[in-house]
This record gives sequence, structure tokens and C-alpha cells, in this order.
Amino acid sequence: MNAKEPRQPKDDREQELLDEALAESFPASDPASLVGPGGGISGAEEAMQPGDALIIVDVQRDFCPGGALPIENGDAVVPVLNRWIEKAQRLGIPIVASRDWHPGDHLSFKPRGGEWPVHCVAETKGAEFHPDLKLPTETLIVTKGDRADRDQYSAFDATGLAEELHRLGVKRVFIGGLAEDVCVRATALDAAAASFSTHLVAGATKPVTAEGGKKALAEMRNAGVVVD
Ligand SMILES: [Zn+2]
Repeated sequence: MNAKEPRQPKDDREQELLDEALAESFPASDPASLVGPGGGISGAEEAMQPGDALIIVDVQRDFCPGGALPIENGDAVVPVLNRWIEKAQRLGIPIVASRDWHPGDHLSFKPRGGEWPVHCVAETKGAEFHPDLKLPTETLIVTKGDRADRDQYSAFDATGLAEELHRLGVKRVFIGGLAEDVCVRATALDAAAASFSTHLVAGATKPVTAEGGKKALAEMRNAGVVVD
């Protein structure tokens, strides 16, 4: 499947940068050899093509082990998403990264009667993207939950993201990140509702609870989301 891919870097420098990035991700190995007919390590990202977008939901320190609202193995999504990022970058596909970015008195916080411990407070370390997530500088950052009196689980909720993706000619989105049964679920359901062909990258998301993850998967599938 690699042979059919358009590989047209804009210039030599760009190719050089790509080669460096690949060498870093896949040391001492031919990257193409990792994706074979059996799937290799993971071949799903090879399906991406122009007209797609990659949406990375809330891969922030607070949602990973050691954070304020840690999701079990939340950081396991990082290497998987890095492969998708590398591929998207190579194809010039838009990369979106959403982040929870709460004021200290956000209504979702337990001290205010909300459901969650205090997490992802704007400008704090916990709100930073996971340090190993290799977001390129051109990443479209979607900030949400930044009003004290309102929560936004979905990256599409009053953020203008759908309009922006339509403007960029995006027809299909691949979604991964945290958490599968909360913000990823809401983002995928909204993407499908906004008429994007919507794929969940199953290996690139983790739920708050296994039970919640199962339920969310069923809901997403029912809404037409393809689970890769
Ligand atoms: Zn939040």
C-alpha cells in the first residue's frame, strides 16, 4: 500500500526534516517495513489521505499517570498518535489538538459541585500537552472549557472547528486521545453529526472506566463512527 502513496515533499529541506523525523521515530529501521500486509506494528494510519484531518483530543499531563485526573495508561496513546502525526504531517493533512483549559473555579470541579477533581487549569503544568506528544508548530489548537460557567467535552462544541475543517476541505476525520468515554466520545459524536466521515483510532484512546469505554464505543458505532 505504500507504493501508491503520493510522496511529494515540497523541497529537499522538507524531505530532510521528514527523514530526520522518521529516523527518530523508527531508529535503525526502514519505516515502510513496519507496515506490511499483516498490519505490522499498526497500519491504520496508512489509510489517511488528502481531505482527512487528524483530531487529537486532550492529551494533557493531567489526564495521564501522575496528573490530577489520570486515566489508566493514558500516556499509552502518545506513541500511537505520534505515528499518526508523522504521517499526517508528511501528507500535509490538518492536525488538530484540543485541550481542556479551565479557570480555577470551573463548574466541573468538585469544589464547585461538579463531577471532576480540579484539572487542566489554564497556564498550569497539568494543562500542558503530554511532553512526548510531537505536535508540529502548524497544529490547530482548540481550547475548550475556558469559561467558568460552561463545560465543553467536545472539540466541536462552540469552538468553530467544524466550520474551519469544512473550510479546509476536510471530509473525513480520524480521532484519538483522552478520554474515550468523555471528550473523545463527545468529539466523535459531534464530528459524525457535522457530516464528517468519522473514524475512531481504537489504539489511540483510553477510557476513564472500562465499562464507560464499552458503552461509548457502542454509542459511537451506532452514530456511524468507524472504529479502526
Ligand atoms: Zn475538564
